[in-house]
Amino acid sequence: MQAQAANSDPFQEDRAKLALTLRRAGVKNQDVLKAIEKTPRDLFVPENFKRHAYDDTALPIDLGQTISQPLIVAMMTDALELHSRARVLEVGTGSGYQATVLSYLCRRVYTVERIKDLLSAAERRFRQLDRHNITTKHGDGYKGWPEQAPFECIMVTAAAPDVPRALIEQLAPGGRLVVPVGGGVVGQELIKIVKHEDGSTSSSDLCGVRFVPLLEGTL
Ligand code: SAH
Repeated sequence: MQAQAANSDPFQEDRAKLALTLRRAGVKNQDVLKAIEKTPRDLFVPENFKRHAYDDTALPIDLGQTISQPLIVAMMTDALELHSRARVLEVGTGSGYQATVLSYLCRRVYTVERIKDLLSAAERRFRQLDRHNITTKHGDGYKGWPEQAPFECIMVTAAAPDVPRALIEQLAPGGRLVVPVGGGVVGQELIKIVKHEDGSTSSSDLCGVRFVPLLEGTL
């Protein structure tokens, strides 16, 4: 019986350990920790990295992109101040891991990816995991997703030289935007922008980060 249970989910213990690591690293939001514990990161990384899927490190995915370090995923998710009715835009679907974590914590995730092949692979994972509240789009996330705006929360998972204007415009009053900003691989800062009810914004620096660049156009 026990052996069978282990076979059905060989990474269950690793996931629980990862959540514990993140808690020890200072993540206090229980809902975020639970969502991370539920999400099978092994499904989102290439075959040869599966044994590192639950290490708290960024890992390569296909086409020169990376899946973020779980601690950064947790921090960014926490910074959005999600609730079960929120509609969330993610720019940079990548493997689909971050979108899946978000999908447990809000009403609907709209996620945009510029590389068609990555998006198709992520869509397969969403189906496999029954994440029916994730809507995808192949497009340039610099432009956001005007047809679905406004969004209460927006997360960008690639580094922009400046905060894209369209994303601030598509943020609902009272909304939160989390985006890595900085030109090079070093010297990027994770920024949180809050849009106030009168349309004005204020921003704060959360921490230094290292993301692949946000690029214009699609592939
Ligand atoms: N959130 C992802 C990791 C993102 S890696 C995950 O959980 O796996 C950054 C992703 O942003 C890459 O897949 C890259 O192709 C994508 N990207 C870069 N610029 C973009 C743009 N302008 N619009 C949409 N996606 C973009």
